[in-house]
Amino acid sequence: MDNKYFSVEKQQKALKWLEDKWPQEKRVCEICANTSWHLADDLVMPLPFSGANLRLGGKSYPHILITCKNCGNAKCFNAVIMKIEVAI
Ligand SMILES: [Zn+2]
Repeated sequence: MDNKYFSVEKQQKALKWLEDKWPQEKRVCEICANTSWHLADDLVMPLPFSGANLRLGGKSYPHILITCKNCGNAKCFNAVIMKIEVAI
């Protein structure tokens, strides 16, 4: 099923961006040396702090999530920097 917030088209755009910034020959997991990664079907968002508390409203920071298929090491890339349009 297509995810309207991170459609297949947007996922392809993200993968293209990654190819430009993080070439395949450099995609070696620093934990386990695996070279196979998975792009999550959903955008993810780190929760910002407001003082000592997590803030659940306000600005958000959508990211894509890339996970090593062997050990689970995960990397997030800012979707706004990638120019992935995030519609609400
Ligand atoms: Zn790994």
